[in-house]
Amino acid sequence: MPFFLNAKVRDLEPYEPITGDFPIRLDVNESFLSPDSISFEAIIRAVEGVAFNRYPDHAARDLCAAFAEYYSIKPELVTAGNGSDELLSVILNAFTQQDDKVITFTPDFSMYGIYAKLAGCDHIAFEKKDYKLDLTAAQGVRARAVLFSNPNNPTSLVVPAEEIRRFVKSTNALVVLDEAYMDFAAEGQSLLHEVEEYENLIVLRTASKALGMAAIRLGFAVTNSRLTKALQAVKSPYNVNAVSQAIGTALYRDKKRVKQGIELIRSQRDRLAEYFTILCRQAPGRLELIGSEANFLFVKCKDAQKVTDFLKKRGIIIRQFGETLRITAGSEDENSALLNALQEYFGGRRQ
Ligand SMILES: *Cc1c(COP(=O)(O)O)cnc(C)c1O
Repeated sequence: MPFFLNAKVRDLEPYEPITGDFPIRLDVNESFLSPDSISFEAIIRAVEGVAFNRYPDHAARDLCAAFAEYYSIKPELVTAGNGSDELLSVILNAFTQQDDKVITFTPDFSMYGIYAKLAGCDHIAFEKKDYKLDLTAAQGVRARAVLFSNPNNPTSLVVPAEEIRRFVKSTNALVVLDEAYMDFAAEGQSLLHEVEEYENLIVLRTASKALGMAAIRLGFAVTNSRLTKALQAVKSPYNVNAVSQAIGTALYRDKKRVKQGIELIRSQRDRLAEYFTILCRQAPGRLELIGSEANFLFVKCKDAQKVTDFLKKRGIIIRQFGETLRITAGSEDENSALLNALQEYFGGRRQ
């Protein structure tokens, strides 16, 4: 008998990151810091302490406590996940039902729409205008959930906290505020510390960007106690493995080092942004810096495809979407190589 794939998965394509051996990867917003600069010894020590024959702590209590301590929030409002990706899937499965409307803004993190569809929801994506995310567009729709990243991926722009507060209060929908890049933004834009003031707000954080720990898959959902209880009830019991729990706990406890790492990334991001400002002036109409509030820049560029190919030939991978480019801030050497190549492409002398 034939097996028919159901409609919701029939047209889905597997996620295909760019693969291959390229010396400089500035395409997926990873941290350029190596475990050395984070604390390789702390990692080894943490792994040595793992009881490999036992199931991990189902609630990842030490990890959630270390995360909560780092951000000065209550540990009982934190749920850990196998990357924030897993939490997105759990949240959409838990808090929506068949045919519920789920709103996202496009472009944004593509997994929002995929998990919404897998949950059987009606996915509505509002186009951004001039790359700006307009929450009021969502206000007229009776949605069950609204998801967006802030600072936004790929625009590297921040929606002001006050705008988000107003929106969360004005809607019955669950608002999933993905703050994967908030550690790189200016102070005072996060809603992490006020989740208890709302019925309907979940803030997501991740160890993949600011901590440079994409490999160990750690994400966090922070929300009020009612939603936390529901999340804990629906997640799979041992969703975060013991090795990741142990390493994550050690890293978040080393607050000073994490902060230093973030500062290093921010300074490289700023250096890159400064240079782009100069380059944009040299190449008027050809290049425009749109946003630089995360660990990457977002740039409008008429010959985006050509620039991407040009850099690829030099072993540098960036991310292109139509006539825009998303460029992760790399190490000093990586950024210098990028800047030299761009200078060559756009002509003129280095300043
Ligand atoms: C990178 C990224 C994440 C991180 O996902 P993990 O599963 O925690 O690695 C989440 N949201 C956005 C918008 C991202 O760009």
